[in-house]
Amino acid sequence: MTNIVCPHCGSTNRAPEDRSPLDARCGKCGEPLFTSTPPDVSGQNLDRQIQRSSLPVLVDVWAPWCGPCRVMGPQFEAAAQEAQPALRFVKLNSDENQDMSARLGIRGIPTMLLFQDGKEVGRVSGAMSSRDILSWARGQLAAHQALREPNIPLQNGSIQLNKIALV
Ligand SMILES: [Zn+2]
Repeated sequence: MTNIVCPHCGSTNRAPEDRSPLDARCGKCGEPLFTSTPPDVSGQNLDRQIQRSSLPVLVDVWAPWCGPCRVMGPQFEAAAQEAQPALRFVKLNSDENQDMSARLGIRGIPTMLLFQDGKEVGRVSGAMSSRDILSWARGQLAAHQALREPNIPLQNGSIQLNKIALV
């Protein structure tokens, strides 16, 4: 069962089985569970995404005054349109969420953080292209998956990564 946390109200929804979650709306607030533009979330909503979502959560920490963040914005959006709903894309405005930014240990922006199973599995700073965003995220998830499944057979000394759902 896949739990999807609403980026608007923070309710946990079960992924519909009869249609794509991309078309689904939140059972509580009625807003779409996914939007083509990654939503800005509050620190509290981000906490819920991290703790309750079955999906990996990719966060773009940004601020309106930050030039590289503005460069990165459309790239993050393009990456979201390609990878949703396998991956949850959200944005955190560090000006409006200073407590959460401090808790996350954000030192500069833009910074991207990736969470899975309630844990941070990667972070990277600086503006990136949509292609680099996706390849970075997939690489981090693949490494995390390998750690979660220590029985993956070794082949030629390297780890086989054939079980990654996010393709
Ligand atoms: Zn909702």
